[in-house]
Amino acid sequence: MRRATCLLTLELLAGVCLGHAQAKSEARPPRTILIKAARVLDVITGRYMEAGILIEGDRIKEVGRAGDLEARAAKDMTVVDLRSAAVLPGLIDCHTHLMARIPDGPDGYTLNLATKSQAFRALEGAADARATLEGGFTTVRDVENEGSGYADVALRDAINQGLVEGPRMQVATRAIAAVGQYNPFGVSPDLRDFPTGAQMISGLEDARRAVREQIGYGADLIKVYADWFRPTLTVEEMSVIVEEAHKAGRKVAAHATSAEGQRNAITAGVDSIEHGHGADRRDLEMMKAKDVYWVPTLGYFFYHAESASSPRAREYMQEMLRRGRENIVIARDLGVKIANGFDASSAEGQGQNAHEITAMAKLGLSPIEAIRAATTNAASLMGWQARVGSIEAGKYADLIAVAGDPLTDITELEHVKFVMKGGVIVKNDFATH
Ligand SMILES: [Zn+2]
Repeated sequence: MRRATCLLTLELLAGVCLGHAQAKSEARPPRTILIKAARVLDVITGRYMEAGILIEGDRIKEVGRAGDLEARAAKDMTVVDLRSAAVLPGLIDCHTHLMARIPDGPDGYTLNLATKSQAFRALEGAADARATLEGGFTTVRDVENEGSGYADVALRDAINQGLVEGPRMQVATRAIAAVGQYNPFGVSPDLRDFPTGAQMISGLEDARRAVREQIGYGADLIKVYADWFRPTLTVEEMSVIVEEAHKAGRKVAAHATSAEGQRNAITAGVDSIEHGHGADRRDLEMMKAKDVYWVPTLGYFFYHAESASSPRAREYMQEMLRRGRENIVIARDLGVKIANGFDASSAEGQGQNAHEITAMAKLGLSPIEAIRAATTNAASLMGWQARVGSIEAGKYADLIAVAGDPLTDITELEHVKFVMKGGVIVKNDFATH
């Protein structure tokens, strides 16, 4: 009886969805846009091509000679002239926190939790999503909402429904950390119900339950804290997390800054190492052998080491940069897949995601390698390589354009002048007024 009810519900749902889609497509044919461009970056070959991009609805229909496309396409199509610009696929950030505007200072994290409602956090997220999209990032992987409940699921769904503007999102929801080993620190033990930055677990059943719960409430991936300066979750706990996540087709991203934390996470079978600042050649070889992605998150250090609030912080950031410079070259030479992630978590950092691409290029990657980290590599880490990450027929019409040449000056990506997501122009500073 139960089964019959479920099947019936599924059928009804399918009927409703199909009916809805049909009604929509009957109402009006998909909009056609032709983009004429002198320099379209093929991120796979690393070369520019002179091309037209024909867009139908939210997808790229064809990339080819602009004249041919114009002759064949519908007469009422919209033509967008980007012949003075370089056109790239929409950028991807694999490590962001749209729900995080954490104030500076030692009590910033605690105050953030204590003074903002989850509803307010979601609204902050909406503002950050818009800033990120306008910065040229049409897809993000949000790797933990920092104690805002399931606000990231709400934001993702609101974007998908067109209620607010933002990038395509994969969300990790609450993240999983060992009891007492993640923010906020220093809260009185009398305040047992004070919110935590992650879902705190201890033991295998806790670990299993947390994954099931987060997936149940809408997580697209799972984030674990393998360490917090020192190893925290055990290999066994993380193995259970990976097992449950993979069973449900979800990937696992592991925060790890210590060498041991990183090795524990890789041994447990995670899909990406976030930060990985303490890695050495052996760890990077281990990553390569297990096909684990590396999301180095060095941009913040690159841009802020010199203006750090204390000599100690400056020293730490400079050391991370020194190691990053060494490791990024080793990783590239070993063939470790590097994916872009800026780790935005402050009001000022939101929308500045391209800083990470600049940092990777200045620390040792070539411009095209840094761009691939934010396009093709990022797309495949997310499992969305068939949808986003390059300008090819069948993929979402997610495009950006800049005035100069990012292959000679990577900082051009910090000044994106045109953004299109799913065939909709979000901003166009090239348009003549
Ligand atoms: Zn982070």
